[in-house]
Amino acid sequence: MADGTKVAVLGTGIMGAAMARNLLSEGIEVSVWNRSREKAEPLEEDGAEVADSPSEAASDADFLLTMLADADVIQEAVGNGVLPALAEGGVWLQMSTVGEDGSGRLAEIANEHGVPYVDAPVLGTKQPAEQGQLVVLASGPEEVRERSEPVFDAVGSKTVWLGEAGAGSRLKLVINNWIVGILGVLAETVAFARSVGVDPSKFLETIEGSPLGLPYAQLKGNMMIEENFPTSFSAKLARKDAGLVLGAAEARDLQMPIVEAVAARFDEAIQAGHGEEDMAAIYRAMQV
Ligand code: NAP
Repeated sequence: MADGTKVAVLGTGIMGAAMARNLLSEGIEVSVWNRSREKAEPLEEDGAEVADSPSEAASDADFLLTMLADADVIQEAVGNGVLPALAEGGVWLQMSTVGEDGSGRLAEIANEHGVPYVDAPVLGTKQPAEQGQLVVLASGPEEVRERSEPVFDAVGSKTVWLGEAGAGSRLKLVINNWIVGILGVLAETVAFARSVGVDPSKFLETIEGSPLGLPYAQLKGNMMIEENFPTSFSAKLARKDAGLVLGAAEARDLQMPIVEAVAARFDEAIQAGHGEEDMAAIYRAMQV
């Protein structure tokens, strides 16, 4: 990466803070903005410049990296003079999960300002983000790919280029459907085991190491068994992702009753006050 390259990171939540740290540890200049400033401030010790507004963070940055909750939040944050504040030739790397419509909407805003837009959601959660091991599902203009790669390399272990902007978000939707589906059936399986007098740990032990024994099932299943849900990915945002899947399916008249049922279970857990817990807290909705 060229000396003096600056990346503005908007959103220093679970993912954004870890990604900013990895950029800094690669020697890249980083400015950060977060609505709740106190979540951005610890990054100062790692060398980040903490800005008071999104446009201050973006000032003279070569890349804008957004890692905020959803498309509405991003639109609001980026709306106020952020894109014009970027350095000449600045590129927007949109890495949050915003779905198909959201990505299209943000691409239009980029287009209006003549800023190249790379749709680049990520696969991986808190720990892979901290270790710089995310998989970047990148899509966007050919001419900015090479330039964007050092930024992606700093936060991820692999970048998959998928074509025009939007392709990354579509693949992310497919992966998220798989993830939320597993979570839903896993929570039901743990609850079902208990209801028929089977120790759910025996279920996990029995499938471990077999093709059925997903490491993911062990991780999330043990959270459910212990009823302890430290957040890697919040239930609230997983519900958002289920909604994005359903929106894309509905636009194509595809019925998806399984993810609809899982979304309803997430709603129950969130209404009961568990939205900020890990997505495995969907199990809370199964407890009788
Ligand atoms: P998080 O820890 O909950 O952080 C959310 C970020 O959005 C924070 O910066 C938060 O600011 C900001 N935000 C939320 N509502 C806002 C509003 N109304 N106005 C301004 N800022 C607002 O979430 P995360 O896990 O880092 O996820 C960030 C994105 O990455 C999401 O799109 C998520 O779906 C995606 N993602 C997450 C994971 C994961 O495993 N965690 C994996 C892949 C993709 P405050 O700090 O002020 O609340």
